[in-house]
Amino acid sequence: MINNLQKNLIEKDSIYGAQNYSPLPIVLNKGKGVYLWDVDGNKYLDMMSAYSAVSHGHSHPELVKVLIEQAKKLAITSRAFYTEPFSHYIEKLSKISGFSSVLAMNTGAEAVETAIKAARRWGYFSKGIKENKAEIIVANGNFHGRTTTIVGFSSDPEYRKGFGPFSGGFLEADYCNTNCECSKVCEKSIGSIKNLISKNTCAVIVEPIQGEGGIITPQKGWLEQLRKLCTDNNILLILDEIQSGLARTGELFAFQHENIMPDGLILGKALGGGLLPVSAFLSNKEIMDHFNPGSHGSTFGGNPLAASVASKALDLIYEDNLISNSKEMGEYLSNQLINLNLKIIKEVRGKGLWIGVELDKKVSAKKVCLALMREGILAKETHSTVIRFAPPLIIKKEEIDWAIVKIKKVLNDFI
Ligand SMILES: *Cc1c(COP(=O)(O)O)cnc(C)c1O
Repeated sequence: MINNLQKNLIEKDSIYGAQNYSPLPIVLNKGKGVYLWDVDGNKYLDMMSAYSAVSHGHSHPELVKVLIEQAKKLAITSRAFYTEPFSHYIEKLSKISGFSSVLAMNTGAEAVETAIKAARRWGYFSKGIKENKAEIIVANGNFHGRTTTIVGFSSDPEYRKGFGPFSGGFLEADYCNTNCECSKVCEKSIGSIKNLISKNTCAVIVEPIQGEGGIITPQKGWLEQLRKLCTDNNILLILDEIQSGLARTGELFAFQHENIMPDGLILGKALGGGLLPVSAFLSNKEIMDHFNPGSHGSTFGGNPLAASVASKALDLIYEDNLISNSKEMGEYLSNQLINLNLKIIKEVRGKGLWIGVELDKKVSAKKVCLALMREGILAKETHSTVIRFAPPLIIKKEEIDWAIVKIKKVLNDFI
């Protein structure tokens, strides 16, 4: 299957590149819509969408058009000057999201760092926490990125090992899981958060569904209870929707599955339309106004090229019906997976086109992904027993039907 050209390119990666990933052995060189091609011209259905960064599909023609036109006109200015695309973009993002203020960054981790800084400033300047005492509560199993501060509060030893000393001020509570055995809804998680709250708590930062953690889906009502707990204790609720946001779960934002509004929202991945790294921290003015000139920044954040592409990416969520397609096709794909009725599948969970398939412990999810690759489907495991299916949100029923036949064939070989 893998020929000399691919072998050669993979070898170069191993010689010249830091080996901080373990990719599937396939060298890609073309993408269009839901499909990818390797250097030998073999075609694959993309069922992981660059961890949700490619929700719009690969090289969306309208996004590529905007990218090229803006690149020819004005690409990078820094924020030392105002630009037209930036002003239009933040107005659009604010109106769509319902948050009055936007701080533009590039990668997800940077936007998480921005949220941490915003939460701490609010804690000191609005809530009156004593200097250097602010605490942020995070969840067990979280994934928020790879900076030293962020890995410092990861629960995964692999992410932390050898990278200390870490910055303090983070406390870890239990996340909520549909499979937990709480007698009252979310008692364990909400109780553990409650136990960690003190006068120094400025924020709770969590993912509404844990993506890298294994598509862990909380019980219904958890976010509402968390919202109430934060409000009652004058604590900011900040949601990391870098992966769950922008239609991935069948709503614009995952928090809309419950009747709540967080105080801060972190976006990234799909915000760049699958073309550029674009991220943002959103909140109300009371929180955001604690940033003043000099307190935070980014050379590339909000650049005209990124702003134009992100603006168009937001428009296309509606023009391409990504929200309803994610909801409908997500339900369809989940049901098809459940209907396979295979013993090897322990659970199918998630929301919209963000589906985690928990396999029997005896099966290696990585090996299943390798076998799927040979059948023309690209998916990626999270942890050792979960396969994530998160195709571009433009996927059609026929494409899912094709994939299901292949998935069935592959899983049957593992029984
Ligand atoms: C991917 C991701 C991040 C980190 O984003 P990067 O762009 O890789 O820095 C943070 N939080 C969540 C929930 C993510 O899925």
